[in-house]
Amino acid sequence: MQSRSDQNAEYYIEGILQKDRIILSKAITLVESTRKEDEALASAVVQACLQQQKFSRRIAVSGAPGAGKSTFLNAFGKQLSQSGNSLAILAIDPSSTISKGSILGDKTRMDAIVNEENVFIRPTASSNSLGGVARNTRESILLCEAFGFDYIFVETVGVGQSETMVRNMTDLFLLLLLPNAGDELQGIKRGIMEMADIILINKSDKENSQAARTAAAQVRHALHLFAASEKDWITRVLNISSLEGSGLDAVQQEIDAYFLRLQHSGYLEHQRAQQQLQWMEDSIANFLSEKMNRNAQWMAMKKEMEEKIRRREIDPNEAARILAEHLFSSGN
Ligand code: GDP
Repeated sequence: MQSRSDQNAEYYIEGILQKDRIILSKAITLVESTRKEDEALASAVVQACLQQQKFSRRIAVSGAPGAGKSTFLNAFGKQLSQSGNSLAILAIDPSSTISKGSILGDKTRMDAIVNEENVFIRPTASSNSLGGVARNTRESILLCEAFGFDYIFVETVGVGQSETMVRNMTDLFLLLLLPNAGDELQGIKRGIMEMADIILINKSDKENSQAARTAAAQVRHALHLFAASEKDWITRVLNISSLEGSGLDAVQQEIDAYFLRLQHSGYLEHQRAQQQLQWMEDSIANFLSEKMNRNAQWMAMKKEMEEKIRRREIDPNEAARILAEHLFSSGN
């Protein structure tokens, strides 16, 4: 079997541009690789993809476990693909950095679309750090965009920090809630509600439509308490049932309206530019932490400083200054 390093960048780039899904998959594996010898090749592929002028609608899909994210993507993805759209679903699980859990099983939960020709489903491999997951996902998004998907969904499987992370790499944030909104609102952090551009009250099945509508009204009311977003978009709250397939046309309409408005106002372009800058900031932090971890002498010095702080022999700020200076001094 050929190893990744036997292929050159053109192999991956050409494959992606020619919409070869197997090569796209291999390219994602390449950018996820932590092997030193894959670094230059991965970087060349990402650079080339960055220069492609294609545009995909990048949509984050978030919500507590069990809210119905996979079921929604299954149903909505089917609708999109049947109306001629192509889509990629990247499932990320930042919690797996701790539990080392696998979400590969998710593929089977999207049985309506898993075999569709124009649907690409890919769980992001777990990484040692949240920063690693972020980098992998950002690069996977770029590869998928160069491939030319109409839609790229980023489904977060974990909860917590992951929401901010995906918000920083997508255009639109979809949040799924359940009809028992009262309880739910207490569990969902205010910050996550504020991030949402469209809130879907999932499981608004026919038989509990009254309760579901009440829940939607409660959510709308809660949203009024937030300041208007600078992007000139009022968060929509929709009742849907992913299982019964109801409300999905309205979701499509709102997504269209959102992109139309934000593209017209120039906000979308502005937001993507901001995200690129944020990417650089995050990368600087990653590079620094890698540099620190690789430097055994420096790590030993840090340990020493920790001891000194415990013994109150040095104040933390002074210790940090010495460590930082040492890291940047020549030869480190
Ligand atoms: P996820 O963890 O957010 O991806 O949630 P899943 O998509 O796995 O759904 C969790 C459970 O809720 C599954 O048993 C689904 O069949 C069920 N479910 C999802 N959407 C609906 C819905 O609209 N109505 C009902 N009644 N059940 C749903």
